[in-house]
Amino acid sequence: MLAVGATMRQLAMGRELTAKASTVLRLALAVLSLAGCVTLSASLGRAEPHRPVVDTLSAVVSPTDGKTVTPPMDLVAVATPTTVAFASTSTPVPTPVSLPEPTPKPQPRSQPVAAGSVPVLMYHYIRVNPDPADKIGFGLSVTPRDFEAQMAFLAQKGYRTITLRQLSDPAALQGRAVAITFDDGYADAYETAFPILKKYGFKATFYVITSLLGRPRYMTWEQARELAAAGNVIGSHTLTHPDLSQVGLTEARRQLGESKAEIERQVGQPVLDFCYPSGRYTDSVAAAVKEAGYSTAVTTRYGWHASAESAFEISRLRVSGGSSLGNFAAALTE
Ligand SMILES: [Zn+2]
Repeated sequence: MLAVGATMRQLAMGRELTAKASTVLRLALAVLSLAGCVTLSASLGRAEPHRPVVDTLSAVVSPTDGKTVTPPMDLVAVATPTTVAFASTSTPVPTPVSLPEPTPKPQPRSQPVAAGSVPVLMYHYIRVNPDPADKIGFGLSVTPRDFEAQMAFLAQKGYRTITLRQLSDPAALQGRAVAITFDDGYADAYETAFPILKKYGFKATFYVITSLLGRPRYMTWEQARELAAAGNVIGSHTLTHPDLSQVGLTEARRQLGESKAEIERQVGQPVLDFCYPSGRYTDSVAAAVKEAGYSTAVTTRYGWHASAESAFEISRLRVSGGSSLGNFAAALTE
């Protein structure tokens, strides 16, 4: 939604549209944002159980314990509702996906962000997507070049990185604060993102799926220890990445407790930060996260985190593959 929404904004800025076309565009944006709300609320797993597009991907069976591991794809927002958005318009509107982005100029906030609000960035892969036909993979993959440009932008603007726990510490939020998160524990978060973070003096939180560490494409425990030793945070993303809104509370508690214990044993630091697989949870699951001894939990709900909101329902800004630096800047200013 970020990429599409921001691109649509640029469309509005960068092109001289007739008054009629502008009206159509506003209509389309309204529908788009409505579609986004629906998608994201579904991702919370609070309402009618609804499996997002990505869950149709085949599951992976763990060779070690024979249990099914849901692919760690937190992809709900990748689905592009362009057909929904433009179905009711008669004036042809160019597709926002392939447009050039000539004027990546940050826009001022349309409305003030609540005091104490902080952007929490969500990344998955930092890589060049290896399969051009894999649109989901593309959306999850921020290229190393783009990631470096984004970190350089943050540094240039005077941002400091904070941890998720510092979101509730007013003193830590002074000036420009941002939290950076990586889901799933992919190897490139260590191999590619970590050196760039270090270059700019930034720290991040890496949410690992304990049963997948050391597998191909995933970081190793040794790498997780090195990240932690450098001041980064290793958080839990469960044992096997199940949909916690569906597995039942007993299993949810096991996922929460055993992954926490395993990371603490392997990394040697308290594990206080949690990330809901695919952003799915219920009130009972959120309560179980707290009971398991965590201090924070991040969702895939889009937006800045306001300090008045629950520390167990932290909103984030998804950084999508192919999104321009202008989109990135715009997300940080609204
Ligand atoms: Zn995940």
